Amino acid sequence: MRTRYKRLLIIADIEGSSGCWDYRSASFMTPEWARACVAMTLDVAAVVTALFKAGVAHITVKDFHRTAYNLLPEMIDPDSKIVHGYRRGPVPGLGDPGQTQAVIFLGMHAASGTDGFLAHTLTSRIAQLKVNAKPMAEIELFASALAPFEIRPIFFSGCPVACEQAGAVVEGISTYPIDKTAGPERFDAQTWRTGLAAAAVASLENDLTEPYLPRGPMRALAKMRDGAAVARKLAIRWNLDCQDDQLLIKAAHIRELYMALIRICYLTPLTEKMLPICLLAYDLWGRIGLAWVRRQKLKQLQLT
Ligand SMILES: [Zn+2]
Repeated sequence: MRTRYKRLLIIADIEGSSGCWDYRSASFMTPEWARACVAMTLDVAAVVTALFKAGVAHITVKDFHRTAYNLLPEMIDPDSKIVHGYRRGPVPGLGDPGQTQAVIFLGMHAASGTDGFLAHTLTSRIAQLKVNAKPMAEIELFASALAPFEIRPIFFSGCPVACEQAGAVVEGISTYPIDKTAGPERFDAQTWRTGLAAAAVASLENDLTEPYLPRGPMRALAKMRDGAAVARKLAIRWNLDCQDDQLLIKAAHIRELYMALIRICYLTPLTEKMLPICLLAYDLWGRIGLAWVRRQKLKQLQLT
């Protein structure tokens, strides 16, 4: 079958996947998280299978939640490439995107300070993130990091608020919401997943979107959840301005803003210098977590 896009990247998060119903499901090494990993994997697997069937030739799936070790590759079509862990540039976290033509975002969430399901941008320690006076969701950071490679954001799934935010910034992006207001007992994951896969396939005909690159300069205000003392500490550490619990970041363009946010959220000057070693250690941590998920899954199977 002929499709507009042959080489796809999927960025997969957990908060907007079909098995994440609370903060514990998005946390590391909890029984809820183990179940959410399985459901997230089933979501991704359904989309991957449908995309291959529709004629896509190459699919890379980048696990992008916490340790970046949540997906169980043995449950996903082996023709796809599942990438765990984080890489250094040129695309932060992802490394080199290769020949990818378009990106699909699955399991996403809304921006910090907005009322979506488990809304946050990069970390829940940022209570609110406003860039040029508007909330900024992760899709803007991730999609713009892929823009220099001419990669088009064509599809996005997450809670209704997250979908609305994605649609507001990336003109023409196809969205497929997951509504969790009724709770897990009344949610039909199988039906939703089938719809998700069909919507992702339909987005292969989406020629409306362009690589997403907003114009600078950017003035960001990051309100820190843990208050003024933490904001002050981070401001001193990274030479930023700070007022009460808010950090002020001035950036010429979105890439510079993204790098500044990565530093604030995940790094210290020392870990930034030792990044290759730190990423290896973090990788090991992720592998231990995923091995634990597999054991939990096995236990569940033995119980049923
Ligand atoms: Zn996440």
